Amino acid sequence: METTPLTPRRDHARTPSPTGLYWSERGVVACARHAPYERSDTWNWERWEPLSREDAAAFAEAGCRPARCETCGLQAR
Ligand SMILES: [Zn+2]
Repeated sequence: METTPLTPRRDHARTPSPTGLYWSERGVVACARHAPYERSDTWNWERWEPLSREDAAAFAEAGCRPARCETCGLQAR
């Protein structure tokens, strides 16, 4: 007899990001693994969205550093 474990679905149902990164209204950057779950409270409250190439360029210019995940260091591709 099989049981279905109740586990969070990781990396599913992500809106694709052109850079592989996401960011929040507060300027926090994270990769698909480390961004909050889409449609979670955190995702909604902090207004997370995919980081576009234009935003990544503007972020790098404003912050004098490339956009990268703050958890694992993955950079925009
Ligand atoms: Zn990461």
